[in-house]
Amino acid sequence: MKILVINSGSSTIKYQLFDGAVEQVHAKGIVARIAEEGSYISQETSKGIYRLETPVPTHHQAFELLVQALLDPEYGAIRSISEVSAIGHRAVHGADMFVESTLITEDVIAKMEECIPLAPLHNPPNLMGIREAQKLFPGVPQVAVFDTSFHQTMPPKAYLYAIPLEYHTEHKIRKYGFHGTSCRYVSRRAALLLGRPLEELKMVICHLGNGVTIAAVDGGHSIDTSIGFATFSGVMMGSRSGDIDPGLVFYLVRSLGMTLDEVEELYYRKSGLLGVSGVSNDMRVIVEQAAAGHARCQLALDMFCYRVRSYIGSYTAALGGLDAVVFTAGIGENAPLVRKMTCDGLGYLGLWIDDDLNERTRACDAVISTPDSRARALVIATDEEKMIALDTREIAGQTAAGA
Ligand code: ADP
Repeated sequence: MKILVINSGSSTIKYQLFDGAVEQVHAKGIVARIAEEGSYISQETSKGIYRLETPVPTHHQAFELLVQALLDPEYGAIRSISEVSAIGHRAVHGADMFVESTLITEDVIAKMEECIPLAPLHNPPNLMGIREAQKLFPGVPQVAVFDTSFHQTMPPKAYLYAIPLEYHTEHKIRKYGFHGTSCRYVSRRAALLLGRPLEELKMVICHLGNGVTIAAVDGGHSIDTSIGFATFSGVMMGSRSGDIDPGLVFYLVRSLGMTLDEVEELYYRKSGLLGVSGVSNDMRVIVEQAAAGHARCQLALDMFCYRVRSYIGSYTAALGGLDAVVFTAGIGENAPLVRKMTCDGLGYLGLWIDDDLNERTRACDAVISTPDSRARALVIATDEEKMIALDTREIAGQTAAGA
């Protein structure tokens, strides 16, 4: 039996087909540019690459293509859809209604619809994915794994904003956090790598990708995280500003005459590494150009690492100690210079980077601190799809056992 993991976004659907033990990936694919020019499906299995360029006007057609690719006699991974025993969906926003992954029912779908105002760009395509999968795989248990669930263990003192409490109680305004599935996966892997029980570890997870999350994880539970209500807060990101003075918006609107839409565009798409460097939102380019002497790229790099380091210090205080800093996602896994610059100056926490180990570690799991460090630095390759598949196996398995 196999587990299909679906990440249904507005213009792409990514998917992976796992074996029942969640040890092997049988197929990995993407339907890209849905409802746009140049749409295609691309899928990889042990038999080779299946690729088809064809118009994909809707998510419905995208799912039909996905099933066709999985069933393809030459390059597919299954002979019949009955081989798919459970489906796990990445779900972005579960607000405070979902503290863990859950079997999808009509009630769950209704609650996810209630969360749409909190994630207007993400929850609707997630829901479309669920509906389409229900049609094409009738009777197959489906599970939703929320990006926000992991951070639901934050205490009110961490998740509340210091505005009148009614804004929270009546309008659900609070810090929710994102990248929870990645943080949960890498916390578990880090405990395995350290050979210590997760329950006794105080860790700061640095998920440094296009989006950036820093999370304080105590005994496997998130107690604080850097992204709040909107997805641009926390550390500066590829093109998102990260934390800024909230008063700036008044100045931009009243004194510079910008509209709210322009301010939103500025914060989300024109800021971060891109805005500071004036060159790119991609850390690879920033590192290269900084090394070549580009002053604004160097500044962007300095600002990024300074902010991550400041969060590590702040969250060590929140945790009351530090056993490990974990680097993950595109930048965290692949940019030794960023890890080095971030950890420079953390000697007061008993953390020193081993330069050789750091330099050699890319996209794999490894300890990169010196043996005499009291707090360890680790690199863990994140795998959100695997985490979703593991949750799906567990929850769908319970359903089958209870049936
Ligand atoms: P997403 O949030 O979209 O899942 P990823 O975790 O895949 O993002 O991270 C993508 C980012 O990782 C890229 O934009 C790039 O900045 C960065 N990245 C990838 N490889 C490297 C590298 N070798 N050096 C520096 N940065 C890298």
